[in-house]
Amino acid sequence: MEQTLSIIKPDAVKKNVIGKIIDRFESNGLKIVAMKKLALDKATAGNFYAIHKDRPFFNDLVEFMISGPVVVMVLEGKNAVKKNRELMGDTDPKKATKGTIRADFAESIDANAVHGSDSLENAKNEIAFFFSQTEIK
Ligand code: ADP
Ligand code: MG
Repeated sequence: MEQTLSIIKPDAVKKNVIGKIIDRFESNGLKIVAMKKLALDKATAGNFYAIHKDRPFFNDLVEFMISGPVVVMVLEGKNAVKKNRELMGDTDPKKATKGTIRADFAESIDANAVHGSDSLENAKNEIAFFFSQTEIK
């Protein structure tokens, strides 16, 4: 069993598709073992995406992530990290395979509906960034 971090980003929360996105996870063998809805502040969003701080899109990414509430979840299942990335689809929704979350619910590479950890090591760090062990059941 693996755990990975998922974030439903502000664009998808605004579109009222939290439930539809969660259904993709539950219907594909991923269990929600922790979840909270919150509004990120600039410092928290910047720290979370610190790995991208030198990329040209960093400021826009942080502004987007604080533009409205997000839903942060820990997903658990077999090969959860890879499974979640498959369900999400390509970073750019225009390149994402039909039937993936980003193809179906996202408009652009900036507003692309979901975040998912890209490795088991990053998943562990990202889960610890948002949740204490007692919040994961
Ligand atoms: P992913 O979310 O698929 O793991 P990255 O980790 O590469 O993608 O990038 C983090 C986020 O930064 C993306 O989800 C997207 O919102 C934004 N982003 C990535 N590349 C670009 C880009 N070229 N232009 C604008 N935003 C981008
Ligand atoms: Mg990434």
